Amino acid sequence: MYTDALTTALGDGIVQIRLPMAGNPMRHINGYLVREDDGFTLIDCGWKTDDVLEALHAGLAEHGETLAAVKRIVVTHMHFDHYGLAGTLLRAGVPDLLLHSKDWDFASRILSNPLEADRLSDIWLGRNGFDVVPSDEEAEHHRLNELTEPTRILNDGERVGRLLVVWTPGHTPGHICLVDTATGKMFTGDHVLDPVTPHVGFWAEHRGDPLGDYIASLENVGRIGASGVLPAHGEPFPDLQRRVDQLLEHEATRENQIVEALGLGPSSAADIAGRLPWTRRNKSFADLGEFHQQFAVAETIAHLEHLRHDERVKRDDVNGYRYVLTG
Ligand SMILES: [Zn+2]
Ligand SMILES: [Zn+2]
Repeated sequence: MYTDALTTALGDGIVQIRLPMAGNPMRHINGYLVREDDGFTLIDCGWKTDDVLEALHAGLAEHGETLAAVKRIVVTHMHFDHYGLAGTLLRAGVPDLLLHSKDWDFASRILSNPLEADRLSDIWLGRNGFDVVPSDEEAEHHRLNELTEPTRILNDGERVGRLLVVWTPGHTPGHICLVDTATGKMFTGDHVLDPVTPHVGFWAEHRGDPLGDYIASLENVGRIGASGVLPAHGEPFPDLQRRVDQLLEHEATRENQIVEALGLGPSSAADIAGRLPWTRRNKSFADLGEFHQQFAVAETIAHLEHLRHDERVKRDDVNGYRYVLTG
């Protein structure tokens, strides 16, 4: 069931607040308030705009609370829609901000040289056959984010009150899920969404195997199990294992499509992306907007580099990278 209500009390001291993502097809990001002895933990806080701040105040007010009751913000990962407002909230008096070490490493590298990350990803996509045209959307993402230094760095297995940190790299290097030890429910951030397929991209040289990490992280949360799923986008749903299985199957299907597309001979990642169907509506690559095309190419590279990691494809450099099946 889809609801446009601002908040939903989910029981056991958990409140879902739908924070707006104006102009974005996702429509909302869920901030979750989790009651602790000293007040609330807020999981994810939306991007940096006035309407998000207003929605947060209004959501707290619906439950007779104010921002003063929020004692800490735990950010599932460093993307602008989860993290952007954190600096504003700290300045407004929230004492603590918690983020995984790998995402803080990533964010602090961007902070130390803000334009460099974009430049490196543009070079990388160019080398993979896709010439980036700077877009307004990219500038907009920067405007809605603020990479704020956490007061506490998190690592796998640590506790934050009733919440247990599970490191789930893939969507970002330091993405975390949080198991609520009081109820057995899992806050999954952007790691497990339904019906959206989380984005796993490969955005610059020497980034390891993010898709391999993502698949291992899916298997890991499936092993841990949960009595319910509280995702960052969309509505809570009961059956974690069903969705994990679907996402694993989706990645396997994509891999088969890519291996098939590689059958035509050495290809750039952009060539391969151009031969695949995109989105749940099976759009052609050409019908995607330029910014979405960047994500499509980065996802294709994540698959190709995963196959390369498994030595099923190799990569040649002939005026740019060409992938070819081994054997
Ligand atoms: Zn994200
Ligand atoms: Zn998100």
